[in-house]
Amino acid sequence: MVETIPLSPFKIVVEGIQEAGGEAFRFCYQCGTCETVCPWNRVRKFFVRRMIHEAQLGVVPFEAEDLWLCVTCRQCVERCPRGVEIIDVMRAMRRLLVPDGVVPASIPNLRGIMTSLASVGNPWGQDPQDRPNWAKGLEVKEFTEGMEYLYFPCCYPSYEPRLKKVSFATAKLLNQAGVDYGILGSKENCCGESVRKAGNETLFKNLAKGNIKTYIDHGVKKILVSSPHCFHTFKNEYPEFKVQFEVTHLSQFLFHLLKEGKLSITKAFPKRVTYHDPCYLGRHNGIFDEPREVLRRIPGLELVEMADNREKSLCCGMGGGRIWMETAKNERFSVLRLEQAIAVGAEVLVTACPYCISQFEDSRLILKNSEAIRIMDITEVLEEVI
Ligand code: SF4
Ligand code: SF4
Repeated sequence: MVETIPLSPFKIVVEGIQEAGGEAFRFCYQCGTCETVCPWNRVRKFFVRRMIHEAQLGVVPFEAEDLWLCVTCRQCVERCPRGVEIIDVMRAMRRLLVPDGVVPASIPNLRGIMTSLASVGNPWGQDPQDRPNWAKGLEVKEFTEGMEYLYFPCCYPSYEPRLKKVSFATAKLLNQAGVDYGILGSKENCCGESVRKAGNETLFKNLAKGNIKTYIDHGVKKILVSSPHCFHTFKNEYPEFKVQFEVTHLSQFLFHLLKEGKLSITKAFPKRVTYHDPCYLGRHNGIFDEPREVLRRIPGLELVEMADNREKSLCCGMGGGRIWMETAKNERFSVLRLEQAIAVGAEVLVTACPYCISQFEDSRLILKNSEAIRIMDITEVLEEVI
């Protein structure tokens, strides 16, 4: 049963959204451009413009599922003629609904995930001591002061079997290139990105402060990350706590290793490949070229572009905390994306985000021909040709 949260009168709601960081709604003049570009409207109705108007009037239907749909893909923000930071408005409305970290029972998965994150620092309630287990059998050192880079694999590549292949490939590449790096394993938490987007500011701050303290205590200055979500958070949101780490996404780092001759490609990859831009690497942070440059350097690899690429990349549907919520099979943008990849004849869809890989692997299984396309992280492709 859906809970109804009593948040009225209207003025309190308007002021609450503003105080929670959503004051951008004031600039909206209701043109509706956001609705035309929002990926939800390819699979179902999602009235973004109307939600912004409801925020302006303080008549937000807090009990509605719509409040949880935004995947924070940034398509709408890029096109809005008034520069409305629509994601901030969505996040602010969720923050009102999740006061003091209490998640409504109507979002059961999210509630369990947040409880696990609060208690053990990872979304599945796994033992923090198991966090570095992905590196077993590899020469991966614990980070100590004076090392150049901390590698932060993200929760998915630390614990989840499919994504462990990504952290494993990454460590092999870093070792091969002679990079001076280490990991902090059980001493780290989730970066907190998804729960912040889901409105739990208190939990985000606790996770962030825990990581920041650990990093400062260990003398971390430069961080390598597998996930664009961790990248965005460390680079653009942790500075809110008066710290600034040098953060590099693996796709950028691999490009530099290849350019400087620290990694050499010795084999061909004779496949037709397409690259999916993760929202938090591409639209949110402007990194479009380095991953493609890495792929272009691989002999035999034919790189083809999908219908929606680069700035217009179609979201996989897992941002904004949606990774922790159920999405009906017939409402997954990821299925549309796989169809786009297959339509250009790609045999492999390469991306650079654990959330995208997780969702594409799931969605591939519901295609009529699940063998038609393979999903790979960019590190996995390089691992095969080094
Ligand atoms: S595109 Fe911008 S101005 Fe137009 S309705 Fe959406 S938020 Fe408002
Ligand atoms: S950020 Fe993406 S999902 Fe959210 S309203 Fe904008 S276009 Fe839709």
